[in-house]
Amino acid sequence: MAAPDHPRDTPDRRHQVVVIGSGFGGLFGTKALRRSDVDVTMVAKTTHHLFQPLLYQVATGILSEGEIAPPTREILSGQKNAQVLLGEVTGVDLEARTVTSHVLGRETVLAYDSLIVAAGAGQSYFGNDHFAEFAPGMKSIDDALELRGRIFGAFEMAELGAQRGDNVDHLLTFVVVGAGPTGVEMAGQIAELAHRTLKRDFRSINTRTARVVLVDAAPQVLPPFGQKLGDKAKSELEKLGVEVVLGAMVTDVDERGIEMKFKDGRVERINTVTKIWAAGVQANKLGKTLAEQSGAPLDRAGRVGVNPDLTLPGHPEVFVVGDMISLDNLPGVAQVAIQGSKYAAKEIDGRLKGKAPQPPFKYFDKGSMAIISRFRAVAMVGKLRITGVVAWLMWLGLHLVYITGFKSRVTALIRWAVSFIGRGRSERTTTEQQIFARSALARLKRGATDLVSQPGAYDAARELLETSRREELEAQAAEEARLTDSGQRGANLGEKVS
Ligand SMILES: Cc1cc2nc3c(=O)[nH]c(=O)nc-3n(C[C@H](O)[C@H](O)[C@H](O)COP(=O)(O)OP(=O)(O)OC[C@H]3O[C@@H](n4cnc5c(N)ncnc54)[C@H](O)[C@@H]3O)c2cc1C
Repeated sequence: MAAPDHPRDTPDRRHQVVVIGSGFGGLFGTKALRRSDVDVTMVAKTTHHLFQPLLYQVATGILSEGEIAPPTREILSGQKNAQVLLGEVTGVDLEARTVTSHVLGRETVLAYDSLIVAAGAGQSYFGNDHFAEFAPGMKSIDDALELRGRIFGAFEMAELGAQRGDNVDHLLTFVVVGAGPTGVEMAGQIAELAHRTLKRDFRSINTRTARVVLVDAAPQVLPPFGQKLGDKAKSELEKLGVEVVLGAMVTDVDERGIEMKFKDGRVERINTVTKIWAAGVQANKLGKTLAEQSGAPLDRAGRVGVNPDLTLPGHPEVFVVGDMISLDNLPGVAQVAIQGSKYAAKEIDGRLKGKAPQPPFKYFDKGSMAIISRFRAVAMVGKLRITGVVAWLMWLGLHLVYITGFKSRVTALIRWAVSFIGRGRSERTTTEQQIFARSALARLKRGATDLVSQPGAYDAARELLETSRREELEAQAAEEARLTDSGQRGANLGEKVS
């Protein structure tokens, strides 16, 4: 194992905080430590801070990826006590207090005095990981761009097929699995694309005949929003032309479609090329590592049971925040991660200043909302239940506040005007690589690492090449000298010419 980058015994070193993740928890935790007498190292597997709530807008061509994923390095450039490192954390050693990360075969080991783990959650296919090949989830920029390629690509393939007289129903059918906020937003936006944005762009297909189906095993849309808002969202979706299929468990997914089973035992298949998985989350697998070493409990979704002060049992120096935690049924939402990481940062700062511990972490619920389409949303703020344009305007204002960076806010506002007031989509560019690179990379044994040389391997190969080339040149020079000295050079040449 490589030596830690911050050996603990260095004299005069400041308290070292390592933050895992650059999402809501990681970024807000790091920023909250800006005035503390600490050095913060944020290590994350992407170079950007991702605003996940707007991923669906990247997937449906409203926003560009840059607008919702600014570089973390740029955001933190003014914070002198913070540095950003790229790397996927593969191990946390609670005993040695080190974090090990890798990127393209390069290993980094960081020593910490305090650790904030904010590695979030991934998609869960409920034990059917093979569904992922045909039904991408929506957790990353790669996912959103792949989905954009698949959605717009399906219309293109349908146009081609229709020109040949083929049946293109399976290409013009879009199935979204999961009727939570993300599924509702995706289904609503695909319906808007088909019925409004693309309606004049094709010659052989009528995009308005596209079928958009939203499937969920639960008996209602948006379960956490309660029956009333769920019913409202369902009827708004239906007005947009979305078919809502409830009480249906998806049992199989393949290249050409999905199979679902109803409570009464009925099995139905929908032929569709474009499937989107917006059901189920699984906490980051680092949770398991932390639980195994600390004895903390893990729930079914892989979330770590933390103490009321967000620390890992037996490890007051380790805080776990956001989507990775299981505490008092806290939901997997951005505010839980933001408030949790600020709490952790305050505790670290307080300890260094000799302050008494804070009272247990208390989440302040600022409300939830889901957008259905332009001018239609549902919101829940305390006891208030808001629907329609008012909820949509609230959504607009809130997202403008939380998008990181002035630049992104201005461009997002312009793009929303283009899409919501007009019918355009500014970001319709798609490429073949966007759609197929994920499966291609998955076929490599070690992913992208297979495409680059191992650290040192390139230099070693170059050195070997240079040594053998040097030897070859030296031998050639010696032969030239020998020929010249022995007077054979002219004779040889002469022999060849004749
Ligand atoms: C499509 C979608 C829509 C959503 N909509 C809403 C919404 O409208 N409102 C709302 O409140 N919430 C919403 N959420 C949930 C919200 O985004 C999350 O609750 C929030 O992002 C959790 O923050 P986090 O810091 O715990 O994790 P994340 O924000 O997911 O950040 C995790 C970070 O860890 C990094 N990481 C992961 N594994 C490793 C590793 N091994 N090594 C290094 N780095 C790693 C990731 O790259 C990322 O930077 C949505 C989520 C999704 C996916």
